[in-house]
Amino acid sequence: AINEILEVLSVLIEEKHQNIELDIPMDIKDIFADRHALEQVLMNIISNAIKYSDDSSTIKISATSNYFNVKIVVEDHGIGIPEEDIDRIFERFYRVEKSRSRAQGGTGLGLSIARELILSMNGDIKLESKLNEGTKVTLTFETA
Ligand code: ATP
Ligand code: MG
Repeated sequence: AINEILEVLSVLIEEKHQNIELDIPMDIKDIFADRHALEQVLMNIISNAIKYSDDSSTIKISATSNYFNVKIVVEDHGIGIPEEDIDRIFERFYRVEKSRSRAQGGTGLGLSIARELILSMNGDIKLESKLNEGTKVTLTFETA
């Protein structure tokens, strides 16, 4: 179940000294998805939230569900993404270099792989971001 997956991931995050806030109802519906693929997707999204924000800032992960859908939201208060780059963020190898102060490693593949996996599971991904304010990624899946 999604609770288990997110709890395991949040322990990993806490080991990196980042504050993580989990908000998942006990009765969250199961997701129609391959567990391994779902873990990979969440790991990608959450590791971006970690990588592109300060260790002292809080990352919020919340999930809600209704009869049809499960929605997972990962929100950070990090460096954000310039508006002109947002449309290209899911392209392979695309990385925002402008106004990135810290040298952050990465291939620029994380989001494109995540998106492909999500689409293959009949899900959807949406990213909203404001430069210097933070980023919000919303994942939507069908219930099992
Ligand atoms: P990889 O995931 O392959 O290690 P990456 O993190 O650079 O490398 P993506 O995950 O595809 O690649 O993200 C693409 C780009 O989008 C990043 O280089 C970064 O500039 C920007 N980005 C993604 N997530 C965030 C976020 N939460 N906050 C700020 N910028 C982000
Ligand atoms: Mg990444």
